Amino acid sequence: MSFDPPSCPWSSVLVTGGAGFLGSHLCERLLDQGASVDCADNFLTGSHANLAHLAGRPGFRVLECDLARPGADAELPGPYDLVLHFACPASPADYLAHPLETLDVGSLGTRNALRVAERDGARFVLASTSEVYGDPQEHPQTEGYWGNVNPVGPRSVYDEAKRFGEALTTAHARARGTDTGIVRLFNSYGPRMRARDGRVVPTFVCQALAGEPLTVSGDGSQTRSLCYVDDTVDGVLTVAASRAVRPVNIGGTEEVTVLDLARRIIELTGSPSTVEFTERPEDDPGRRLPDITTARELLGWQPHVPWSEGIKRTIEHFAAKPPATA
Ligand code: UDP
Repeated sequence: MSFDPPSCPWSSVLVTGGAGFLGSHLCERLLDQGASVDCADNFLTGSHANLAHLAGRPGFRVLECDLARPGADAELPGPYDLVLHFACPASPADYLAHPLETLDVGSLGTRNALRVAERDGARFVLASTSEVYGDPQEHPQTEGYWGNVNPVGPRSVYDEAKRFGEALTTAHARARGTDTGIVRLFNSYGPRMRARDGRVVPTFVCQALAGEPLTVSGDGSQTRSLCYVDDTVDGVLTVAASRAVRPVNIGGTEEVTVLDLARRIIELTGSPSTVEFTERPEDDPGRRLPDITTARELLGWQPHVPWSEGIKRTIEHFAAKPPATA
């Protein structure tokens, strides 16, 4: 399902974290559909480069804003009819480097974003994550699974911030009548990820293009299910346009081991790179695959871009950039 410009149901949208990977793609899609877009970002992990191609587009504004600060909601002028709350470091390397900021934006930042939605009577969508399932003991993961998260492990700053964000969002819907939705996103990838942000796809692609060894953690038997960014954007906007209150899994249905991913990226780039096995991060989830029955059957969304095609587009993106900026 893709949203055509004439069918865009929103006139004014706030995208928090709009300078990030997913946020910038959302801003672009919404502008293409004719909505006005305010992109709010503190530029901790987001970048102006992600927005350069949107500069000067009618209806587009960039608001430098620390969403977790008290009163930040008042800095976001509105009125909006949709608030997409995507502000948060998303790469494990980033949230481990910024643990307190991650907890703050997931809690105080989410509260402020919800205040904006309540103030304006806007639909609100929280970007949640497959990480709420932790290292899952149920496979594939349905939205009804409560998860297996270590509350004091290194990843907890992200997992628990997102779990708290879900609780806060749901409480707002119940206690204040705010129109809320929650998307649980599974390993999105594509152009505009930071080259060496630590996540597996940009890391492997850049290593392969540079002829460096691909750093596979553990024995590489852990799995992920990749979802190309265009499909993720469609999924987010599908949930935004629906009345779904409960969380909805949005993710790819092709489960791949990390070692296989490394081998296939080497193959697709034609790189002379080898594989180097490195230490497995603490609490690294062993398997991850979304059950997307809710999205597919209730909302009519499913991913369309096969991972081999999405990876090719991602390789082209990084290959077109000079190594220093890639
Ligand atoms: N990974 C890897 N080498 C890297 C980066 C990541 O083997 O250079 C592994 C990581 O240990 C995990 C998987 O790839 O098992 C996905 O990691 P990523 O950081 O992309 O996201 P996660 O799904 O863990 O949030």
